[in-house]
Amino acid sequence: MEITAAVLSALNAPHDFRRLTLDPPRRDEVLVKIAATGVCASDAHTRSGRIPSPMPCVLGHEGAGVVVDTGEGVTHVVPGDHVALSWMPNCGTCRYCTAGRPVLCSASAPALLAGTLMDGTVRMHDGDQDIHHYSFLSTFADHTVVPAASAVKIPDSVPLDVAALAGCGVLTGYGAVVNRAKVAPGDTVVIYGAGGVGLSAVMGAQLAGADQIIVVDPQEDKRAGAEIFGATRMLAPSDDVVATVRRLTGGAGADVAIDAVGANGLLEQAFDATTPGGTVVCVGVPAADSYAQVPGARFVREEKFLTGSLYGSSRPGQDIPKLLSLFASGRLPIDKLVSQTYRFDELDTAFDDLAAGSNRRGVVIVDPDLVN
Ligand SMILES: [Zn+2]
Ligand SMILES: [Zn+2]
Repeated sequence: MEITAAVLSALNAPHDFRRLTLDPPRRDEVLVKIAATGVCASDAHTRSGRIPSPMPCVLGHEGAGVVVDTGEGVTHVVPGDHVALSWMPNCGTCRYCTAGRPVLCSASAPALLAGTLMDGTVRMHDGDQDIHHYSFLSTFADHTVVPAASAVKIPDSVPLDVAALAGCGVLTGYGAVVNRAKVAPGDTVVIYGAGGVGLSAVMGAQLAGADQIIVVDPQEDKRAGAEIFGATRMLAPSDDVVATVRRLTGGAGADVAIDAVGANGLLEQAFDATTPGGTVVCVGVPAADSYAQVPGARFVREEKFLTGSLYGSSRPGQDIPKLLSLFASGRLPIDKLVSQTYRFDELDTAFDDLAAGSNRRGVVIVDPDLVN
């Protein structure tokens, strides 16, 4: 079929809206009509080259829509079903999947990096030129073919612009707190970054019963917004964060620190802001050639946990519906993350606003009829 997609052909180039040919879904694949898609920092990092990915490609990995067609072997969704999209379609059989850690799936990762679907081939073409997928999803298009495991069935009652965010930013931030750090009632949590991922970490910390939730962000309007989601204290980086956190915790430091930024030096600061026995979770992706240092002797003596978290250390097929159920019952205000919506042809403006830090989350409405 013919589709319209926003093609990225070179680093930092504007998106080129082109008519492409989209092949039908093959075995274990699903054709989805995209309703809405978030614009995530990883899209911007790929456009700038910080995250390498084959081009030309169609970016976008935080979307939701409606199933149009299914390939052979697909039984969990039928045409007409609403789906949120997961960018880590676990194979279900590798050692990580069978150990209950599907975001580490060893079958998915190589295809993700190659910009293909699971079988190593692509479905999008511009004449005789192949167009690469991005994170299996390529949601900056009016239709996309995704692996069956990426299409997570959700209730029709959930607005699709809200469901889109559950597919990356919300799951990443919430999961870092709940699945990885396992924040407990009464904990103090420090969260660096008040964008979509950081604020989702704030929501997770509040639901988990954290007592103090301290948010650090350089932008005043973002700090102010964090309160809506349950932050108890907002700090600017210039506020001597480590000393302030210690003071707020009787000298001990936070039980958990979440780095939702990935900037140089933040991991070290998060380490210092954490109490002995505490946990530092790194979520924001630093540049590929960056390294972090922690003080070796203190690392041993203070028994701190230092861990990364990919995609909320989640089981997307189960966790995305759980998040949307929490949204439906009013306990996870995902809709409040959407600070700006854009028409599909305003995609580059959404990237500009992301770069300027002016959004909690910008959402591109690809098909207004499906969202309203
Ligand atoms: Zn993302
Ligand atoms: Zn696997």
